[in-house]
Amino acid sequence: MPILSLDPLPPGTGTVALVILGLAALYVAECLIWPYGRCTRCEGGGIHMGPDGQHWRDCHACGGSGKRHRPGRRLMNLLRRRR
Ligand SMILES: [Zn+2]
Repeated sequence: MPILSLDPLPPGTGTVALVILGLAALYVAECLIWPYGRCTRCEGGGIHMGPDGQHWRDCHACGGSGKRHRPGRRLMNLLRRRR
């Protein structure tokens, strides 16, 4: 049995591509249904410890809401704005 295959695509590549496409479609659908994700900066609390380590401050990343647009949703908004 030859070690190197001359086939351009190993068997199963089509299935893998389908799975990736399926996951991408799921992610897009998710971004449409739940455009907000938990803020990674404050873990959804809306506040985080200031640089002095003694005072809580409103999270600048989410404006204190604890929610942030998901990266996929931000990309969609960007694409929509360009049209
Ligand atoms: Zn935040």
